[in-house]
Parts: sequence; structure tokens; C-alpha cells
Amino acid sequence: MIAYIDRFPDEHGTRSIEVSPGSPFLFPGTFHFFEHYCNDPDCDCRTVLIVVCEATDTSKPLAAIVWGFDWADYYQKWMADEESAHWMVAAHFAPEWPQSDWAQDCLDMVRAMVTHDGDDWDAQIAERYRKYKATLGPPSQGGHAATPLCLKDVYIRGESTPED
Ligand SMILES: [Zn+2]
Repeated sequence: MIAYIDRFPDEHGTRSIEVSPGSPFLFPGTFHFFEHYCNDPDCDCRTVLIVVCEATDTSKPLAAIVWGFDWADYYQKWMADEESAHWMVAAHFAPEWPQSDWAQDCLDMVRAMVTHDGDDWDAQIAERYRKYKATLGPPSQGGHAATPLCLKDVYIRGESTPED
């Protein structure tokens, strides 16, 4: 998984939110939601890894969240497993990443943001995924391999921080 802002640094596309004192979520500050996308041209995992950091310390992620932005039917075909497919479409913690004490708040926030009607983040994520994949060149076999292997790979590589 590669940070979108590393590939497209001029877009200033990272979502940020301000949390004011007295909010029931997180703590006062500015929080960035760094999107990461899969770097394998042969993989069509249709996922985004969202790394949440407080603006004054982006070296220590507060949470790392995976979200499959397509429909459950797609993942069911792709992963051949109904349970995993439903897990994919609900935003969830990236298993191999360390999560902070604030991780649940971050997850709640991501879920609220991707499902909020007036917000186009989900459409934007799908669009960025396609845009990012287009930079990787055509798949080697003339089509996306339907392999769930990459996902495991995602989690293992996920131990690096956005700055790596
Ligand atoms: Zn992938």
C-alpha cells in the first residue's frame, strides 16, 4: 500500500477534520486521514487503507483502517468467502498495524464519513483507486488476477508508516 499523496503530491487531497474541545470523539486537534492504495498492477482488491494521524505528529498513526469500497458480491467472488466479503465492506482495523487507544474513535469517524449521505468521500476513494492503478501500467496477464493474496501482503507491508 502506497500513500496517495506520495504519488500525487500536488492534489492536496487528504481529508482532515478539526476536533474542538469538549467533543466526545478523540481529543482537540486536527486529524488527517491518509489514503493508501494497493501497488500491485495484477490485483483488483478495491480497498483503501486509511491511516489516521494527528497533524502535529504524523509519525505515530492513531489507527489504520481498511475499507473495501465495492459491493459485498464483488469480494465474495474475489475471496470466495461470504464472511470475509462482509468484513471487507464494513470498515475495519488493518490487522497487522498497531492501533492506539484512540483507534475505535478513528474507526467510528471513518465509518461515519464514508456512509454520510452528503459526503462524496466514497466516490472519491473509488476514483482515486482507479487513478492510482492507472499509474501502475496494465496487468501482466491481460486482466486483473482475482487473488486475495495481496490482501495479506497489504497487512504485512502495512507496518510501515506513511513517511516510509
Ligand atoms: Zn490489491
